[in-house]
Amino acid sequence: MNIKKGDKVKVLSGKDKGKEGVVLRALPQKERVVVEKVNLIKKALRPTQQNPQGGISTVEAPIHVSNVMLVCPECKQPTRVSRKRDEAGKLTRVCKKCGKDIK
Ligand SMILES: [Zn+2]
Repeated sequence: MNIKKGDKVKVLSGKDKGKEGVVLRALPQKERVVVEKVNLIKKALRPTQQNPQGGISTVEAPIHVSNVMLVCPECKQPTRVSRKRDEAGKLTRVCKKCGKDIK
């Protein structure tokens, strides 16, 4: 999976198509990501001490990584990434549009 927490991504399909947001959580085992303000679902809240009425809140539901594309922090474009090893032998991601490393 080429996308991780803190990345900015663009949504490619679904009801939030075209939206951009920051990845709040990455779920590599499920190949899903949770993106800020994307794929919002309503969730019923149980009544608690602080909130005896209960209520409804909106939370982000995970979406499949194939439905998002990484937005390169350098060239600001949605892009595919390739991977390369740096001098230290660590894998880094590289933007296919501008060729810069993506942290
Ligand atoms: Zn780029």
